[in-house]
Amino acid sequence: MPNMQVKKTAMPTQSAEERARNFDEVTLGYTETDAINEATRCLHCKNRPCVSGCPVAIDIPDFIAEVAVGNFDGAYDVISKASSLPAVCGRVCPQETQCEAKCVRGIKGEPVGIGRLERFVADRHNEKKHEIKKPVPNGHSVAVVGSGPSGLTCAGELARMGYAVTVFEALHTAGGVLVYGIPEFRLPKSIVSLEIENLRALGVKIETNMVIGRVLTVDDLLADGFECVFIGTGVGLPKFMNIPGESCNGVFSANEFLTRVNLMGAYRDGADTPVMHAKHVAVVGGGNVAMDAARCALRLGADDVTIVYRRGEEELPARREEVEHAKEEGVAFRLLTNPVEIIGDEKRAVRAIRCVKMELGEPDASGRRRPVEVKGSEFELPVDCVIMALGTSPNPLIKSTTDGLDTERWGGIVADENGATSRPAVYAGGDAVTGAATVILAMGAGKSAARAIDEYIRNK
Ligand SMILES: Cc1cc2nc3c(=O)[nH]c(=O)nc-3n(C[C@H](O)[C@H](O)[C@H](O)COP(=O)(O)OP(=O)(O)OC[C@H]3O[C@@H](n4cnc5c(N)ncnc54)[C@H](O)[C@@H]3O)c2cc1C
Repeated sequence: MPNMQVKKTAMPTQSAEERARNFDEVTLGYTETDAINEATRCLHCKNRPCVSGCPVAIDIPDFIAEVAVGNFDGAYDVISKASSLPAVCGRVCPQETQCEAKCVRGIKGEPVGIGRLERFVADRHNEKKHEIKKPVPNGHSVAVVGSGPSGLTCAGELARMGYAVTVFEALHTAGGVLVYGIPEFRLPKSIVSLEIENLRALGVKIETNMVIGRVLTVDDLLADGFECVFIGTGVGLPKFMNIPGESCNGVFSANEFLTRVNLMGAYRDGADTPVMHAKHVAVVGGGNVAMDAARCALRLGADDVTIVYRRGEEELPARREEVEHAKEEGVAFRLLTNPVEIIGDEKRAVRAIRCVKMELGEPDASGRRRPVEVKGSEFELPVDCVIMALGTSPNPLIKSTTDGLDTERWGGIVADENGATSRPAVYAGGDAVTGAATVILAMGAGKSAARAIDEYIRNK
């Protein structure tokens, strides 16, 4: 008989007061008893709707069945057939709109905590040291540009097939957004490092501080003997609002702010690239990036942090859990509010942000109701720092240095469902192709491209 408990087994979590002032992980993970209890809530539906909600089609009921009987290694084996970064995905995947949204238990209660179980299984696996066997080399080599989830997945898949893979990463640390964007309190960096060490153990070479398009071009890589190149360069170029005062001191893009905090460790004493410890912070935007920036600002010691978002609560694009966590920690929300000017003092340091109130009109092209300005509703919010989290687009460097590589008007690389671009032997995937999306979709793209690259090289 399945366990008919209506709610998910609670996730042990740091209290809101405690965690709002530290960078340690917010959620602490299931114990063995919690995991077995949660796993027994699964009904093992014959038509497996949860699997269709998973972008990489993990055999969810099968891995949960192994957890229910305490066979955690068996559960890991099932997951790892489909996903190469389960400890990451168990923490950051938007399960509530994917696998868990399809869970039958969600109809009359809460769905099975699939993400929490995935995380438990991966963490249990990572507690032990595992010997990684180097695959037999097949004599072919591939270059991967960018070390985010798409590049790392593509590299891992190809390395397991015997390819000699070199990853070229612009930054000094591999991991992409997993290390420079998503904060330590949501995704500890040690988890990403472990995945990268596992790739190195498979034989993947990772060359950091290599900006492709500057140090070498994609064509140089092909001329140097790489038979294919995979481009997984993400969307690192921040957008601004182009409103007066945006060049004042104390205005940051969320990218810069999060990179300083997460990658450069600016929250620790003595960091090489410190960051402003502002007291009154406005974060403009309503996605995961905005929530991460707001929660980091709070942890850096701000007295108040306010999310300023032009639509309403229902339209907030961030994961529900992240919005709830931000609210519990004390982040304030000014919804239906749009900034029109940033006001500086005599030294051009931010003093306030001028905003207007909005109301929702007819749906726009995205299907969401268009925010319309309420006349005469201007007001000032006194702040000393503004963080713009308005979205990002691809850096144009690869496009401008790779002849014949077709791109969309917004800068995304044009690629088919297997990652093939307009240039033979050049593949692409992840955010650089789709625009800002999710870790699991980037991984899926890296995996499909690896299969296509293998086919291309074998048929050459
Ligand atoms: C703050 C933040 C929070 C997020 N939270 C979530 C979340 O909770 N859940 C979720 O699923 N998704 C989340 N996302 C989105 C997710 O992280 C991305 O969709 C995913 O990382 C995309 O992977 P990618 O491999 O395409 O690119 P990226 O992770 O962006 O990696 C691209 C890499 O390429 C490198 N690069 C760029 N140009 C060059 C070049 N010319 N030469 C060499 N290297 C280059 C970059 O330095 C970077 O390391 C978040 C994103 C951000 C920014």
